[in-house]
Amino acid sequence: MARYRGSSCRLCRRENLKLFLKGDRCYGDKCSFERRPYPPGQHGQRRGGKFSDYRIQLREKQKVKRIYGVLEKQFRGYYYRADRQKGITGTNLLTLLESRLDNTVYRMGFAASRNQARQLVRHNHFMVNNKKVNIPSYRLKPGDVVEVREKSRKVSQILEAMETVVRRGIPNWLEVEKDKFRGVFKTLPNREELTMPIQEQLIIELYSK
Ligand code: SF4
Repeated sequence: MARYRGSSCRLCRRENLKLFLKGDRCYGDKCSFERRPYPPGQHGQRRGGKFSDYRIQLREKQKVKRIYGVLEKQFRGYYYRADRQKGITGTNLLTLLESRLDNTVYRMGFAASRNQARQLVRHNHFMVNNKKVNIPSYRLKPGDVVEVREKSRKVSQILEAMETVVRRGIPNWLEVEKDKFRGVFKTLPNREELTMPIQEQLIIELYSK
């Protein structure tokens, strides 16, 4: 499966936003974005001026793709699906991304970042409704139960992530029973509950051209 293999910190600097792609490091003073808050590359510090509408829309799309760790083809697939659904396309798009299993594992605090969550899911550490699932993009429905498998409850990455989740908190649409290593995807999130600085309308404008 294709995935981005370059520097994660470079992506934050490119998007001019902390995307929290690296777990612990993102909260410490080693965060590259804190140290060098300007775009990467030789001319990073010199860039500026007025941006075209296209460029603004493109950057917003890239930012959301990078937050959720989704590549272009799959992201466009989410857009088409969101467009076919009832309701506001932009909100549908974000809801679809939030319903991914890897994102939910991260949100529940079983992984320190979405990248790590994806890897843990791939390595068969989780069950959904008592069935082993190793597909990071698996779409959860309200009421689905995500659980760390019995044999994986001593995996250090999972235990460390569960310790440190307090600093970012667990969102309202999830319910986690830490002692039972499981959580419930209670409901789809409302737009107001998604607090990341995302202007999804720009993405819709870009794709509807
Ligand atoms: Fe982004 Fe985290 Fe790297 Fe900071 S440490 S630049 S937040 S990935």
